[in-house]
Amino acid sequence: MANCTHDCSTCSSSCGTRNKNSFIKPPHAGTKVKRVIAVASGKGGVGKSLVTSLLAVRARGQGLRVGILDADITGPSVPKAFGVTARAMGSEEGILPVETKSGIKLISMNALLDHEDDPVVWRGSLIAGATLQFWTDVIWDELDILFIDMPPGTGDVPLTVFQSIPLSGIVIDTTPRDLVEMIVKKAIGMADMMHIPVLGLAENMSYFTCPDCGKKYELFGKSRVSDLAGAYHVPATARIPIDPALSELVGTGKIEEADTDCLADIYAQIAHSREIKDYLD
Ligand code: ADP
Repeated sequence: MANCTHDCSTCSSSCGTRNKNSFIKPPHAGTKVKRVIAVASGKGGVGKSLVTSLLAVRARGQGLRVGILDADITGPSVPKAFGVTARAMGSEEGILPVETKSGIKLISMNALLDHEDDPVVWRGSLIAGATLQFWTDVIWDELDILFIDMPPGTGDVPLTVFQSIPLSGIVIDTTPRDLVEMIVKKAIGMADMMHIPVLGLAENMSYFTCPDCGKKYELFGKSRVSDLAGAYHVPATARIPIDPALSELVGTGKIEEADTDCLADIYAQIAHSREIKDYLD
């Protein structure tokens, strides 16, 4: 690098001299997590929280110890999908996550606010700080998989999370309507920079099955998820239909009753992804 100061903290270049773990923060001493999976999207409202929740439900259904770190600080929607209204408790040692009905551990800004509909109007640096505290100050205990519902986009906050928390891999969520190729390219570029594998590409709102005739309609255009996954060497894909029943489960806090089969291929990649201890060695 022409202007290299050898201070990686002031530079985002992925040059050969960068120590890829230079920004990684260790978790709380009471946390032992095997795998950490981030679910990311190009923008909000495309079902990222839904995909995070469904993957966590699937993992829990396999008998694993599962956690969800809701890093979508300004739009936390995971607790609602699980019908969790409990407040997280703190002790001298750290913050204790709340638990869903099936025993998924969960931390979210909603679990810390006095009123869950209080708005969070913070600057990016504060938001990033809060997200990292969910990693460094929460006592997650022993988990097989911690899912992170990432803040949307590829801006400062997601970048900080990517750099600071050791990740086994990421799952990218899109809809057929997004500028999919650009979003996927950006997210994959960011993951490559951090040396994190992209394990799956989920296309939410991919189609709608008519309840009367059973015909499938691609309401937002033809699916491109397989082509894109092929072009960018992403090993697994998922097509999630627009499903009023799913929306109802989210709205009534019963996401743990949802069918998660559409995410089976991506989940299989997650189950075999590298453990973070290998990554940190
Ligand atoms: P994001 O996390 O990307 O902001 P959410 O997962 O919160 O998006 O989804 C936004 C809203 O759209 C939620 O109310 C959710 O229940 C609904 N939704 C998302 N995907 C689907 C789907 N495939 N079928 C029905 N409703 C959906």
